[in-house]
Amino acid sequence: MSAPFPTMATKKTTPGICYLVGAGPGDPGLLTLKGKECIEAADVLVYDYLCNPEHLRYAKDGAASIYVGKKAGDHTLSQDEINKLIVKLTTEGKTVTRLKGGDPVLFGRGAEEAAELYEAGVKFEIVPGITSAIAGPAYAGIPVTHRSHASQLTIFTGHEDPTKPDTSLNYAKLAQADGTKVFLMGVERIEEITREFLKHGANPETPVALVRWATHSHQQTLVGTLSDIAAKVKAAGFKAPAVAVIGDVVTERPQLNWFEDRPLFGKRIVVTRTRAQASVLSKQLSVLGANVIEMPTIRIAPVEDQLSFGELVQDCHTYDWIIFTSPNGVDAFFTMFDKLYNDARSIGGVRIACIGPGTAEKVKARHLAVDLMPDKKHYVAEGLVKAFKDHQDMDNVKVLWVRAQEAREVIANELSGMGAIVDECEAYRTVAETEDNLEALARLKEEGADMITFTSASTVEHFLNLKVALPEGIKIASIGPVTSAAIKARGLKVDVEAKENSIPGLVAAIEKFWK
Ligand code: SAH
Repeated sequence: MSAPFPTMATKKTTPGICYLVGAGPGDPGLLTLKGKECIEAADVLVYDYLCNPEHLRYAKDGAASIYVGKKAGDHTLSQDEINKLIVKLTTEGKTVTRLKGGDPVLFGRGAEEAAELYEAGVKFEIVPGITSAIAGPAYAGIPVTHRSHASQLTIFTGHEDPTKPDTSLNYAKLAQADGTKVFLMGVERIEEITREFLKHGANPETPVALVRWATHSHQQTLVGTLSDIAAKVKAAGFKAPAVAVIGDVVTERPQLNWFEDRPLFGKRIVVTRTRAQASVLSKQLSVLGANVIEMPTIRIAPVEDQLSFGELVQDCHTYDWIIFTSPNGVDAFFTMFDKLYNDARSIGGVRIACIGPGTAEKVKARHLAVDLMPDKKHYVAEGLVKAFKDHQDMDNVKVLWVRAQEAREVIANELSGMGAIVDECEAYRTVAETEDNLEALARLKEEGADMITFTSASTVEHFLNLKVALPEGIKIASIGPVTSAAIKARGLKVDVEAKENSIPGLVAAIEKFWK
């Protein structure tokens, strides 16, 4: 951007710039592409209470992030201090990205921050965001305009005390205005605000909705009328932050409530896989509406004996079959393979067997075909043994089994029993995660959960070793019989077991359970 003030070019001595970015209302997908670019470019990120901290994952390595609070009544930094901070950082020549919830200039004080930057003679840009004033109602199935209900939208702040003489709002006009009225920051004043509307002649039956933590997986919506919503807020203990919408558009909600109608909406589900693997399961559960708590209980570590591992990988082309029994095994194997060889053809003509679709996907990502998999629904070691049995005579067949250090012995025992020569290639270890789950543990303790998922016996072992008290009534979901056996061995009950032993199979079983 060229400087908005021509004299600045001579005045300026540093290349700093401050982006005032709207971070959207919360759903991680509701950040603009430009907003994401500004996060990626930032040396320093300055963000507040209503900005979803998940966006910070786009920051480059080494970028600093500063939380400046601004939850009502709990200002970690005052507005004045925030202004000074962003001016100081930008003047130092840094690229500063100031992230604000929703849109930066709709009740976001973005204009004040821009003015300070202007005064200080540093460059800035304003990057609009999706505002909670429109997205919040939309995620509750309420369109702010509608051909049959409202051709006009008024957005006002609920922060000002309407009974104070110095209020800048004219409630007589607001109450009489046509169309939809939306107000922000108004939960605490809902009683005064609705009273003012009624006092100035608004129809007491006018529908009102409040949407709390809109677009987040824990969104809550409360519906009433101008005459009863204040009492309902009190009775429900409904708290900020919420966006309020007044008008006939609220009557669209029963048919348009797409977000809260998703099958797992409102369910808090714990995912216990490694941080790296959690995202696949978490994403699929989130798409169905679940509020996912990622609690990595295991971490994948290299095996100590790298030499033996390397030798077996080096000889992989001398085998008839390579067997992969987990996606982690595929990753570890090819990480070693790539260190040893710089030609994909070095794997030779060996055939490849995989325990299930998740593992197969990893192999296919290397542009290698998978020659053998168990029957659908039997993605366990026994299923793979059966597949070999049905496939060929295994007498004297040379097999390299790529395994976790702590895997069950079924593959080696059964295939050897069939006459195969099985070499076991220990490719990785599963160890307890002790660092990465403290926040999730605190969340579980505080908020509880409806369900916990286990995707391997080792996630069960390591979770239970954490000695976390399971919330009362929590349901337990397992990916398959081996994991279920581990759960039962520790005296717990399995409520859901996937029919097809894969991540999509587990997700389908969970969806069915809550139907
Ligand atoms: N600039 C922001 C608004 C900041 S004022 C925007 O465009 O959305 C802060 C108020 O915004 C809160 O008190 C609440 O009324 C509303 N708000 C922001 N994010 C919200 C969310 N995810 N759910 C409900 N209300 C939200």
